[in-house]
Amino acid sequence: MVESNSSPQGVAAENEIIGRGARESARLTRKWFSNLTDAARHGQKAAYVFVMGNMNEVLRTFDMPIVFPEITALQMAVRGTAEEYLKESEDYGYSPDICEYLKTDIAMHLRQGKHPMRQIPKPSLVVTTNACNTYFKWAEVWERFHESPIVTIDVPNERAAHTESTPGDKNFKFEHAYVVSQIKELICECEHVTGKKFDIDKFRQHLKFANEMSHYWKKLLMLNARKPAVFSALTDGLAYLGMANTYRATEEGAKYFRELYEEMEYRSDNGIGAFSRKDGKDVQLDQRFRLGFIGVPCYPIFRGFNEFFSDWGGIFVSSSYLKFASGGTALGFEFDINNPIESYAEGILLTVRATQTGILFDIPDIESPESIFGLDGIVYHGVKSCRTASSGLADRRFHLSEAGGLPTLLLESDIVDPRAVSKAQMKNRADAFFEGLISRQQRLGAGR
Ligand code: SF4
Repeated sequence: MVESNSSPQGVAAENEIIGRGARESARLTRKWFSNLTDAARHGQKAAYVFVMGNMNEVLRTFDMPIVFPEITALQMAVRGTAEEYLKESEDYGYSPDICEYLKTDIAMHLRQGKHPMRQIPKPSLVVTTNACNTYFKWAEVWERFHESPIVTIDVPNERAAHTESTPGDKNFKFEHAYVVSQIKELICECEHVTGKKFDIDKFRQHLKFANEMSHYWKKLLMLNARKPAVFSALTDGLAYLGMANTYRATEEGAKYFRELYEEMEYRSDNGIGAFSRKDGKDVQLDQRFRLGFIGVPCYPIFRGFNEFFSDWGGIFVSSSYLKFASGGTALGFEFDINNPIESYAEGILLTVRATQTGILFDIPDIESPESIFGLDGIVYHGVKSCRTASSGLADRRFHLSEAGGLPTLLLESDIVDPRAVSKAQMKNRADAFFEGLISRQQRLGAGR
C-alpha cells in the first residue's frame, strides 16, 4: 500500500499508483489486439465468444486465442470507423434495423478479418449462450462463412423478476445438472478442435485467476458508494470492462484488478475523485450530481455523450452495463477449485442468469431512491441496435418514477451507428434534465 506522506518517496509512490489502472488498460488493450493479429497471421485455432457467458476458463485451458466480436465492434464505433462497415454489410443484404454490432462484424469478415486495430483470426470454434437472441443468428453466420462448429450453452433464466431458483432448491438442482452436462460437451468439443486432452489442474489455475478478478471487481464497484466517486462508471468503467472480459481467467487480469483496486482504495481514502482529460491534462471531475446509468453506452460519440453530463457536474457512479456486460464477474462469485466442474457450472448458472436479469428487470441497487450509491438521478439510454437491452427501459423508468420520485432521463440513439445519433437533441434533453435537478436541489435545500 502506498504511504500518504509528502516525502520524495511518498510523492513518487503516489505518482506511480494514481492513473496506473488507466495506463495499464491502454497497454493491455494494445497487447490484446496485437496477439489476435499474430494469431490470424499464424492461422491459430481461435474461439469466438460473447461477453455474457464467455466460458473463458475452459477455452484458456486449451490455450485458444479468444475473440470477443462485441468488443471489436465497439472499438470500431469509438474510433469512428464503424459506419463504412455498416454500409458494406447493408449492401451485402443485412437490414438497417438489426443489431449493429453484428453488422460491423459481418463486413469485417467480408474483409478477411481486417479492421482498424489490424486483424482478427477466423473462428475454429464458436461458443454462444442464450443471453441474447441475436447471439444464435450471429453464430450461424460464422458457421456459414467458416464452417466453424457451434456450442450453445443454454442457461436457465428467471421466469419473472426475482423468482430465480437458489442453491439448495429442487429446481436449482435440475438446472445445475443441465449446465454441468453442457460444460462437459464444451470440453469434448475443445478436445476435438485442438487435439489436446483436458487438463483439470490447468483449469483449476484459471478458475483461481477468475476468482481473484471477480473478488476485486465487485469490491471496486462498491467503492463508488463512497464520496467522492473514484471512477466514472461510464468512461473509466469501459476500460475496466474490457479488462474484465478479455483478460478474464488470466494471471494478468487478476493482477490488473488487484492493483486497480489498490489504486482506487488509496484514492478513496485520500479523497482523490475521478479524473477527466481536459486540454491534455487530467483534472478531477466536479461531482455535484451523482447519477446512475441504465442501458448501453453511445459509442459513436462516447466522450461527447459523457460531457452532456460532466459539463453540469454530473458523474455516473454506477451503471447496469458494468454488471451485465462483464459476463457476471461483478457478482463476485468464487469457484471452488476442489470441485471444479460442479462449481464452475454453479457459477455459470448464477452469473449468466444474473446478466440476463440485469438486462430485463430492474436493478435494485441502482433503480431505487434508497440506492446505496446515493443517487440524484438516473439516465436510461435505449439503442436502436439492441432490443434485448432497450425494450423495457421506458417501463422501468415509469415504474421508478411512480415508486419514489427519483428524477430520470430517457435518451435514445445507438451503440454503433452514428446515423442514429442526434447529438443536439440529446444535449437539449440532458440540459433540461439538469435544470430540473438544480431546481429540485434548491427546493430540497429551502425545505430543510
Ligand atoms: S442485440 Fe444487444 S445484447 Fe445482443 S449482441 Fe446486439 S448489442 Fe449485444
